[in-house]
Amino acid sequence: MSAVASGLDRLLPAYARADLELVRGEGVHVWDADGRSYLDFGGGIAVVALGHCHPVPLAAAQVQLETLWHASNLYRTQPAERLAALLSERFGGAQAFFCNSGAEAVEAALKYARKATGRPGVVALEGSFHGRTLGALSATGQPAKREAFEPLVPGVRFVAPNDVGALRAAADETVGLVLLEPILGEGGVLPLEPAFVAAAAELDALLCLDEIQAGVGRTGSFFAFEQLGVTPDLVTLAKALANGLPIGSLLVSDDAAGAFVPGDHGSTFGGNPVSCAAACAVVEAVDDELLANVREQGAALAAGLAELTGVHEVRGRGLLLGAVVGSPAGDVVAECRARGLLVLSAGDDVVRLAPPLVIGPDEVAEALATLASVLADRISC
Ligand SMILES: *Cc1c(COP(=O)(O)O)cnc(C)c1O
Repeated sequence: MSAVASGLDRLLPAYARADLELVRGEGVHVWDADGRSYLDFGGGIAVVALGHCHPVPLAAAQVQLETLWHASNLYRTQPAERLAALLSERFGGAQAFFCNSGAEAVEAALKYARKATGRPGVVALEGSFHGRTLGALSATGQPAKREAFEPLVPGVRFVAPNDVGALRAAADETVGLVLLEPILGEGGVLPLEPAFVAAAAELDALLCLDEIQAGVGRTGSFFAFEQLGVTPDLVTLAKALANGLPIGSLLVSDDAAGAFVPGDHGSTFGGNPVSCAAACAVVEAVDDELLANVREQGAALAAGLAELTGVHEVRGRGLLLGAVVGSPAGDVVAECRARGLLVLSAGDDVVRLAPPLVIGPDEVAEALATLASVLADRISC
C-alpha cells in the first residue's frame, strides 16, 4: 500500500478494526482488496438485510439521486411521506420522525417521552446498547462504555433483563420511559421474555422498544414485538431500514401521539430523500415470503449451531442468533475471517450471526462448516 493512499493513521482510533479492507459487495458476499471473497454473516452489523447492492433499493436510490438528493425539512418530499405511510401500515397506526442513525432515533425517543410525560426518569436494562451519543449512552447498561464520559444524563436506572420484580421496583413516579431491546444484541443476543415485556407495557410510563437491530424482519416478523404480544408506544429503527444507507426512525404509536409540536425536534438530513427511497424499497421487500425464509433459515442455523462441539448455548430469534462459545469470541471471529466467513461477537463469549435475510440452505451449510472447523481446531489445540 502506498504511503499516500493509506489514511489509516489519520482516522481517530475509535474502533478495534480488523486489518481487512473491503472493496465490493454483492448479495451475501464481500470482497477484499486482494480479490478474496467472504461469506458475510455479519451483514455490516445487521444492516445489509437484502444483501449487498441489492438491485431494488439500489434502483430506488439511484432514481432519487438523479432527481433530488436533499430538500431539508422546510419542505415536503415524497419519499419521506411514503416511508412514513408504509411504516405506519406495518405498525398498525403510527407517526414517524426520521433521522440518520440509531443513536439519533433513541435521542428522539428520550426527548419524546420527556415531553409526553413530563417525567425525566428512564428504566433501561443491564447489558443493553442504545448508542454512543450522550443521551443514548446514558441509557446504555454497559459501564465500560460509559465510565470515561460521566457525568451522563441523570435519571436512568438499570435493571436485570427479565427480572419483573426489579422492573416494577425501578419504575417509580419519576419514570416516563421504559427502554428495552426485544433481543439485547450487543449484550449477548439475549431475548426478553414475553411476560417481562408485558409487565413493562403495563407500567405507568411510555414503553419504547429499541428495534434498531431486531427490527425490519430480522427476527422473522417485521417488528420483533409482533412475537411478544405487546404493542409499544414507541419504536426505534435504523440499521437495516435502508439496507446500508444512513437512516434512523422513531415511530410513535397513534395511542401516544401528540407530544411533539413544530420546533420540538429536528435534523437537517433527517428524511433524506435518497435514504427514504431506498428504505421504501426495503420495507416493501420484507414481505411474507422473505419473513418465512428468515424463520426457516434461522431455525436451520440455530439447530446446526446447537450441534457444534464447542457451542454451549444458542440464543436469539430468526436471523439474529448468538452462539455461546467456550473460548474468547473475538478469537473465533478472527479465525472465521481468516477462513472466509465474516461473523460478529457480542460480549466476551458470544459469536453473533446477523446475515442478510436472503440467505438460503447453501449459505447456512457453508457458515456452519466453517464455524465447525474453527471450533474443532480450537478445542484440539
Ligand atoms: C446499533 C444500535 C444502536 C445505535 O445505532 P447507531 O446507528 O450506531 O447509532 C442502538 N440500539 C441498538 C439496539 C443497536 O443495535
